[in-house]
Amino acid sequence: MGETIFAKIIRKEIPADIVFENEKVLAFKDIKPQAPVHVLIIPKDTGIPTVSDLSSSKHSELLGAMIDAANQIAKDFGVSEKGFRLVMNCGADAGQEVYHLHMHLFGGRKMNWPPG
Ligand code: AMP
Repeated sequence: MGETIFAKIIRKEIPADIVFENEKVLAFKDIKPQAPVHVLIIPKDTGIPTVSDLSSSKHSELLGAMIDAANQIAKDFGVSEKGFRLVMNCGADAGQEVYHLHMHLFGGRKMNWPPG
């Protein structure tokens, strides 16, 4: 699978509204926000297209880093107390558009369930 737009964001070749960064993880505002807070949390590793490519033996540290980032971002955006939603779309039926692993963080409004 070819390179995605997120690889260009990681290399800072195209602009993004970056809200969090460390050695493993980058997070930036979604370009088409579906909630008052909508941030994408991605690994800097460009070799993980989907959740199906993850395994605990290889990726537990990365997944921990993504959750730590999510909690920090939720605090920074003031949604930690009221609540927020984390979503990882995996594959076509889930509506995954970008095949670089990413976690959506939604907050700032009441979420519906089921998600549709
Ligand atoms: P998914 O459907 O889970 O693959 O989500 C991909 C998300 O990436 C969508 O919510 C898009 O709005 C978002 N997106 C695509 N291109 C960009 C970009 N250049 N900057 C920020 N978000 C983007």
